[in-house]
Amino acid sequence: MDKMKHLAACQTSSEMRERLFALLDALSAIRLLADSDLQYHTEEQLVSYAVDVLMKHADLEQCSVFIAEGSILRCIRTLSANDDDLFTPMEAADKERLPAIPDFVSGEGIIGRVFESGRLEYCRNCLNDERYDPFRDIILGFDAGSMLVVPIASGRETMGVLYVAHLLPEYFEPWHQQMLTLFCTLLGQMLRGHRLLNDLETEVRNRTVELEKALEDSRKLARRYKELASVDELTGLRNRRYFFEEGAAVLARAQRNPENFSLLLIDIDNFKHINDTLGHQQGDAVLSQLAQLLKAEGRIGDIVARVGGEEFCILLPATDREGADQVAQRIQEAVAALKIDFDSPDPGLTVSIGMATWSEIPPGDPVRILDGFYLQADIAMYACKRAGHNRRMFYSEELSRQSA
Ligand code: GH3
Ligand code: MG
Ligand code: MG
Repeated sequence: MDKMKHLAACQTSSEMRERLFALLDALSAIRLLADSDLQYHTEEQLVSYAVDVLMKHADLEQCSVFIAEGSILRCIRTLSANDDDLFTPMEAADKERLPAIPDFVSGEGIIGRVFESGRLEYCRNCLNDERYDPFRDIILGFDAGSMLVVPIASGRETMGVLYVAHLLPEYFEPWHQQMLTLFCTLLGQMLRGHRLLNDLETEVRNRTVELEKALEDSRKLARRYKELASVDELTGLRNRRYFFEEGAAVLARAQRNPENFSLLLIDIDNFKHINDTLGHQQGDAVLSQLAQLLKAEGRIGDIVARVGGEEFCILLPATDREGADQVAQRIQEAVAALKIDFDSPDPGLTVSIGMATWSEIPPGDPVRILDGFYLQADIAMYACKRAGHNRRMFYSEELSRQSA
């Protein structure tokens, strides 16, 4: 008799040990989930990981997690004990290979009910339990003997449900319910944390995009203002400021790579008279037409600018004396052919062109050198005026002496 008692005691003790081990193993699923770094997972990966560790450490036949999108509950991950992919790393989770588990609607079936009520449900024996609808709930995967459905919630918000099942009826013990409730609370908090982080990241991303756009807009605006500050309003040509700033930069380049360099200063003859006879507005129209003509004569790399009331400049990099003279001649011919839309008989438009050309730019401050260069063209231009207008002349020391 004692022996029988002893045997029974041994059996109880070994059963207890087994249950203790099962409990400890199941608890390690909670620890593993808590240790996972949600920062590196998508929500689906986090759920998959939770299902994986649970299946690995709790002795279950099937485990699925449904996450709500509005009132629809979608199965994110399901595993059964005889799945080939059981215990594979979560990275291998492949949605395509999941058994086709349809969506549940809040309030429908055991899944929908638990989601709606936020309360755990335990089907001790699926065959005798009215709450278990074999036609609806069998689609969860297999013919379960008992099943436990636990809400996944954080605070008042239920985010989904965990479904676990076993072939045996009456399989789940109270500690299962407590352990799985704890597990789902942790998962709910992690999902919430994940969503908050995601929302924050999305917000930061959106703000960054907005900021980049605002920055680009302000850059565009700055470019536009800079351009406006460098463009002559009446003619659309570059203005005097741009001419001297950019001209100095072009000249500095020419200092580094020695080359010919020429400059034309074009002044309309008797413009005062045009204004006086035709009116200021017509005078403006003449300035605009001449500007278009000069622009058309300039090549890429030339700087064509309006430097004064009726004075224009063309900086001609890499252009020698002969080239500069050809450009000036073409301008004079084009001006002569210009059809000015005068109301009264065309008094004829002519220009005087002072020219300066250097075969090599001397070393020194490019701003100062450009000023000197401009002065030379100006001396030549005034020599044209003295000589009777409508002509072009190159600067020379002789002219310089005459103008002194
Ligand atoms: P010259 O043949 O010696 O160059 O004589 P000019 O009459 O062309 O030169 P002057 O310097 O005596 O007169 C230039 C005129 O240009 C005087 C000024 O009213 C006019 N002017 C300057 N800027 C503008 C402008 O923007 N629009 C118009 N319509 N006239 C302008
Ligand atoms: Mg003038
Ligand atoms: Mg003039």
